[in-house]
Amino acid sequence: MKTIDSVLSEKTMFPPSGTFVEQAHLDQEGLRSLREEASADPDGFWLKQAQQLVWRTPPTQALDQSQHPFVRWFADGQLNITESCLDRHLTTHRRNKAALIWEGEPGDQRVITYFELHREVCRAAAALLRLGIKTGDRVIIYMPMVPELVFAVLACARIGATHSVIFGGFSAEAIRDRINDAGAIAVLTADGGYRRGKVVPLKHNVDEALKHCPGIRHVVVVSRTGQDITMHPGRDHFWNDLVKAESGHCEPAIVSAEHPLFILYTSGTTGKPKGVVHSTGGYATQVAFSTKYVFDLRDEDTYFCTADVGWVTGHSYIVYGPLIHGASVVMYEGAPDAPHKGRFWEIIDKWGVTIFYTAPTAIRAFMRWGDQFPRAYRLNTLRLLGTVGEPINPAAWIWYHEQIGRGRCPIVDTWWQTETGGMMVSPLPGATVAKPGSCTQPLPGIAVEVVHKDGTRCGPNEGGYLVVTRPWPGQLRTVWGDPDRYSKTYFGDIKVGGRPVYFTGDRARFDEDGYLWVMGRVDDVLNVAGHRIGTAEVESALVSHPHVAEAAVVGRPDELKGQAIVAFVTLRSGHSQTPETAALLKDQVVREIGAIARPDDIRFTDALPKTRSGKIMRRLLREIATTGKAVGDVTTLEDIAVLQRLSASDSDEE
Ligand code: ATP
Ligand code: MG
Repeated sequence: MKTIDSVLSEKTMFPPSGTFVEQAHLDQEGLRSLREEASADPDGFWLKQAQQLVWRTPPTQALDQSQHPFVRWFADGQLNITESCLDRHLTTHRRNKAALIWEGEPGDQRVITYFELHREVCRAAAALLRLGIKTGDRVIIYMPMVPELVFAVLACARIGATHSVIFGGFSAEAIRDRINDAGAIAVLTADGGYRRGKVVPLKHNVDEALKHCPGIRHVVVVSRTGQDITMHPGRDHFWNDLVKAESGHCEPAIVSAEHPLFILYTSGTTGKPKGVVHSTGGYATQVAFSTKYVFDLRDEDTYFCTADVGWVTGHSYIVYGPLIHGASVVMYEGAPDAPHKGRFWEIIDKWGVTIFYTAPTAIRAFMRWGDQFPRAYRLNTLRLLGTVGEPINPAAWIWYHEQIGRGRCPIVDTWWQTETGGMMVSPLPGATVAKPGSCTQPLPGIAVEVVHKDGTRCGPNEGGYLVVTRPWPGQLRTVWGDPDRYSKTYFGDIKVGGRPVYFTGDRARFDEDGYLWVMGRVDDVLNVAGHRIGTAEVESALVSHPHVAEAAVVGRPDELKGQAIVAFVTLRSGHSQTPETAALLKDQVVREIGAIARPDDIRFTDALPKTRSGKIMRRLLREIATTGKAVGDVTTLEDIAVLQRLSASDSDEE
């Protein structure tokens, strides 16, 4: 019997093309020497990377871990991050270069140059100052994906106010909890936003939330949809009224590198969201470093990341990373299927996008919709593809490579978390030979290991706990208002060499070539007859069947085996949910992995429960598989109706 730890290796390897390698920042030789430099002198390495930023007082020290697990980076350095993102470009040819290329869902568009972005940010920052918002205050941003969202984020950074962006899909209750947890004094929002042709009542949601938020003194409202809203005199102001009074000048607040740039609540896949706190200098160093090397970013690139600024991916790789490098960033307001399922591909052709970054959940949706949508477009400007958010099933990787990259573009499968601030494990596109489904190797300067519970290192292909053994610049500094939760959640479990190390919450293995495979969340991993089976691997075996669009696998208590495997499966359009198909799928898993992983139950469903960032919420499926209904925290669930349908279909069977 094959054990799970040695299975599911998509055999094909994908080296970058000669043409890509020739122009890349890093080829194999370059990567080797960067790794050597980083391991010989990590502090010196990161101090050098920090020079990618504009500092008012350059740091002389890198890591300070005297208060571990509370760490500091570049602590004697001083800066304002917006000088790296904006001011520095104004004296170069980028002054008149497009910084933001924005498309609204209804088809409107705006192109904003670096000069204009700087001016808008300064006007907004000056307006916030005039309202009495100061360095260190917390400001909530709850907006649709419009340029003012980027202005708002950078305006807060300009004055040293700590921003906390709440994804525009969240409800009034979620806003209320985050405002109160962060102790915010102002909310920057919009009247509404467009989503699949419908209007989301953002201002109304804020009004509901604020019934229970005594600390909020100001609400600033961008007019996006023009819908009717109620303005509360004294508290509420229109964005345009405030900024039109301001000039395009606002002195940046110079802060210490350790100043909290933002608080961001995690997406809630595993439980109640945590207010992750990020620093300024360390965070910016890590995103600048990773943006440059992982995206192989060049001045002439046009870069499109489909994340929402409400998630960490949007913070690091729509706003801060690309702007630090003076890139042209494409930003799209709406849904990928609005008004048609080729919208992303249309945007890529229209603007000549060269780098495209999205999530596995989106890629699986594109696959489900069918190849005819991307095929209708040229996509010939693309040179690099990326993914983040979940393990990418090898079948989805191959589809992405063929249908979107047309076999020409390397794919960077980037593993990282809200807590890590920036990418941690990823291919370097000009140097790494990719294996579909593996995020490959830690970036230079990043110390990632897979260990047993007792901290000893796992052997090749042995599954274990994914940990980071050395602090990194983009590391979260604490959980807002709850340093204890920070220590316990991330440093309470695993010691390596007697010292607590950062535990990611993920289970993973390194293969015989030192490539990392993330197997799923530790809480999700199955234990079947004494074998630890990664959810990601069984799901990938299912998704490799041509009828399957998406699968989520969970365990249900079983007297004999410990856990029985229940697979929730969504089929591609045109395939029927029959017992024959279920039998075929069980065979598929046995063939790909072995009899030990054969699902006991296949349940067909038209959709899976997901967080609002698109990740599958297996903990809810586990409850449904076990008790018939989900009772855990559902505040971050995207579509509550999916759960009701799933629970209902269960009771039908019984
Ligand atoms: P919460 O912590 O509240 O449960 P979350 O973990 O979903 O929410 P994020 O920080 O957005 O919030 O997600 C990070 C997690 O996403 C990682 O721990 C990992 O499980 C998964 N992930 C991200 N990128 C990848 C990738 N390239 N390959 C595999 N897994 C990934
Ligand atoms: Mg997490």
